[in-house]
Amino acid sequence: MLDTSKNLSQIIREQMKRDGKRFWAGDNISDYVDDNVRPELIEEATEAFEQVLDALLIDRETDPNSKGTARRLAKMYFNEIMAGRYDPRPDATSFPNDSKDRYEGMLVVRSELRSMCSHHHQPVVGVAYIGIIAAQHLIGLSKYTRIAQWCARRGTLQEELANDIAREIEKATGAKDLGVYIQAVHGCCENRGIMAHSSLTQTTVLKGAFKDDMGTKKEFFDNIKMQQEFAPR
Ligand SMILES: [Zn+2]
Repeated sequence: MLDTSKNLSQIIREQMKRDGKRFWAGDNISDYVDDNVRPELIEEATEAFEQVLDALLIDRETDPNSKGTARRLAKMYFNEIMAGRYDPRPDATSFPNDSKDRYEGMLVVRSELRSMCSHHHQPVVGVAYIGIIAAQHLIGLSKYTRIAQWCARRGTLQEELANDIAREIEKATGAKDLGVYIQAVHGCCENRGIMAHSSLTQTTVLKGAFKDDMGTKKEFFDNIKMQQEFAPR
């Protein structure tokens, strides 16, 4: 029986706590938020954002630009900037790479990222370079970017994001030798605080041969340099 004295988000939060499921800003909680409950959660968030706007002394009644803002914010959080928390992992069908002339080289994919810092909810804009040495399976090239964007569209820290992407790419490809390098600018440094417009943050996660073999590591960073010359951000 649904307890009507509680709102839906409270019921779901209590369920996650009972299950020992972590629900930090960077965690995926799609097992608890399906398409049936999302509209009600958006409704609840809309009412909460209305209260925030009221507390900020913004006139939602007569300012035409602020009238629908609470709902726009609620929908944007659930369906866009934090969609990676609520959407299940993108499908990444893998193809066998085990024939005689299998691809054994390094693959480096450049993925544009849009994320948001979990401290200030400010935009993080950047690019991830994902490198793997092909294992027994390959996934479609666009899937690397889909997985990276799914990890990014949450409230994250760049360090955490690099780890998340590495872990998910490892799961999807079975590759043990991989590297993730992210370069991004942070709204929380540009729009507030130190107001530094050119601040650029780099994070690197290296596993297997990318970490232990100098040749592989060098090839990865050489590939990144070539990519940057081809498509500088
Ligand atoms: Zn921040």
